Amino acid sequence: MIDPHLLTRLSEMVGKAHLITDASCLSEYGTDATRLSFMPDAVVFPRDSHEVSQILSLATRHQVPVIPRGAGSGMSGGALPVQGGLVMAMNRLDQILAIDPDNLIARVEPGVITARLQQAVEGLGLFYPPDPASLNISTIGGNVAECAGGLRAVKYGVTRDYVLGLKVVLPTGEILDTGVQTMKGVAGYDLTRLIIGSEGTLAVITAVTLRLIPKPEAKATMIAFFPQVSAAVQTVSDIVRNRIIPTILEFMDRLSINCVREELELPIPTDAGAMLLIEVDGDEALLRRQAETIKAVCLQGGALHFEAAANEEEAEQLWEARRNVSPSLFKLNPHKINEDVVVPRSRMAALVSFLEQMAQEYHLPIASFGHAGDGNIHVNIMLDKEDPEQLDHARIAVHRLFQKVIEFHGTLTGEHGIGITKAPYLEMEIPRPGLDLMVRIKKAFDPEGILNPGKIFS
Ligand SMILES: Cc1cc2nc3c(=O)[nH]c(=O)nc-3n(C[C@H](O)[C@H](O)[C@H](O)COP(=O)(O)OP(=O)(O)OC[C@H]3O[C@@H](n4cnc5c(N)ncnc54)[C@H](O)[C@@H]3O)c2cc1C
Repeated sequence: MIDPHLLTRLSEMVGKAHLITDASCLSEYGTDATRLSFMPDAVVFPRDSHEVSQILSLATRHQVPVIPRGAGSGMSGGALPVQGGLVMAMNRLDQILAIDPDNLIARVEPGVITARLQQAVEGLGLFYPPDPASLNISTIGGNVAECAGGLRAVKYGVTRDYVLGLKVVLPTGEILDTGVQTMKGVAGYDLTRLIIGSEGTLAVITAVTLRLIPKPEAKATMIAFFPQVSAAVQTVSDIVRNRIIPTILEFMDRLSINCVREELELPIPTDAGAMLLIEVDGDEALLRRQAETIKAVCLQGGALHFEAAANEEEAEQLWEARRNVSPSLFKLNPHKINEDVVVPRSRMAALVSFLEQMAQEYHLPIASFGHAGDGNIHVNIMLDKEDPEQLDHARIAVHRLFQKVIEFHGTLTGEHGIGITKAPYLEMEIPRPGLDLMVRIKKAFDPEGILNPGKIFS
């Protein structure tokens, strides 16, 4: 419980309209895409860095947990108030401050929705590539805090690769600028990179300077269906062997295809066990050559059906179906466990057959889809939460999955973060000395441990 005097102080700082304490309105700020739920004591909506600083100083003095929150689309529970306290919602910091075509940078506040920034820069012939499938709801602040990836990561990289500098507020209230506004800069430790992906545990981000690139001239989107996942995954390697790095190389297994079958409006072969969704971009002549090579490689790899989107509208329909896989799987089974492991591309086929074996062994449907181009597989274990045996099996399956991923020199999470859901497993990947150093870094930023407690470290 937050002391009523502190709530009065907070209300004076931000204005009564920007503080929620009414219990009936709090619950929507206590959940995220994990569908787990914890009740905050209050929600505050600061307007700028100065207000964020005042709130954090007060919270540090009185040891009140503060949980930064973007859109709440996180998949690992990063924005959940697991110890109660004050949710700091960044919705009001939602301005695109500048787009500078001469220097190819944009400066934005953290509450800007990812898709809104993309549309704004594309209107000027520029491009901000990171495109999490949640881009229509997620915020830039949440993307930076999670180092969000996305469909285009295989060619263009992840959020980290586009952040030049940050304005942040430390839990003690200090406001500081990290990084640069230029293309280069190596002065001092790279605090920007340290804060990117820190899941709201080190500092609150109040502005972001982003690198932009020119918008590619054109793109071509293709889809191919294969009898099994192994053939699709082998085709991914074969495309890359042909010296083509597509902008996007996504795969779906049978269960995932079935979830979006109706939306696709395509003649999907009944025996399709896997699908590849491929996009290349660049100038028109290069695109034509690459599209021909990709078609030939898919057919040689045993594709049952190959189709190229005839126009932008058809391509968008395919992407919308891909973006809807996760929500559709949720509709099918709201209690699924969703992991986002990454393995070297050459190990993907082995990982997928390991998953198929586990699905049979434990009688658990497992749907896999994701970013085949960079080895990032979203593994969805569909379970009946009411069945204790299934729950036990699912837990064992997750543990065995992580063991296999580490054995394959992969990582537990490519983009969703550790949050609370993966905290118990972090030590499987990061040995003690590394974890201890992280804990010391956390302490240096946040001596009283008020910022997003209970996350990353179990
Ligand atoms: C359908 C669906 C598809 C998705 N697809 C992808 C995908 O393709 N790639 C991908 O990477 N992710 C994906 N995600 C996960 C999620 O959208 C991303 O992690 C996203 O970056 C979270 O942004 P958010 O604004 O919702 O942040 P929130 O969920 O609100 O918060 C996430 C974390 O960021 C912290 N945070 C938020 N704002 C700030 C701030 N200003 N300062 C400091 N910390 C802050 C929070 O404390 C929390 O730890 C998907 C989610 C859904 C529901």
